[in-house]
Amino acid sequence: MIGPQGSGKGTQAQKLSKKFGLPIFSTGNILRQRIHTEDELGKKLSRIINNGILAPDEIVNKIIAEKIENDGYKGYILDGYPRNLAQARFLAGMDELTHVFEINISDKEAFRRITGRRTCPKCQIVYHLDYNPPREEGVCDKCGERLVIRDDDKSETVKRRLRMYYETARPLVEFYNKKKIHHLIDGEQSIEDVGRDILRVLG
Ligand code: AMP
Repeated sequence: MIGPQGSGKGTQAQKLSKKFGLPIFSTGNILRQRIHTEDELGKKLSRIINNGILAPDEIVNKIIAEKIENDGYKGYILDGYPRNLAQARFLAGMDELTHVFEINISDKEAFRRITGRRTCPKCQIVYHLDYNPPREEGVCDKCGERLVIRDDDKSETVKRRLRMYYETARPLVEFYNKKKIHHLIDGEQSIEDVGRDILRVLG
């Protein structure tokens, strides 16, 4: 799943995961969990993520390689990886993707969505105050943990992340276009309609 912050790629990954019984490998979630180990690497990652810049390729490539090499999956969904051309090339050396979904939204819509976003710090489920609220206000449906606003969902960081996203996503899209597995999806529709468009491509 490729898309700017707030495009709903994490939400769609969760829907696909449930429907097809596939695991989601989300580098963002894995890195955020790694921060809780307050060692040197954890502190370094915390600075990187809170500033909205990309983590080093070696770190994220290693995370994904370990997941993919752990055989026995009938498939998987990647959310937030690859993020640049170097990562896409690394991945291509390990496995062939079947579909790449680029979920497209305007910057204006991205801002609107991100300000309403609330995340469960424990199981990483993402809610939205208007579009996808939890059953009980401020509390995760699944585990009961208090929901939080992620540091990197704050306005200045969001601007930087969107700029960086477009710089790195363009070559990535070209790479998958050439392989004829890239599909552009209109992310400004309802969660259900975006999901329907993805399923239509998957047949
Ligand atoms: P996400 O939850 O996917 O928006 O990721 C949150 C943050 O984790 C990003 O802003 C980056 O700092 C880092 N990150 C996640 N995935 C990657 C990746 N594939 N390459 C580099 N940094 C990543």
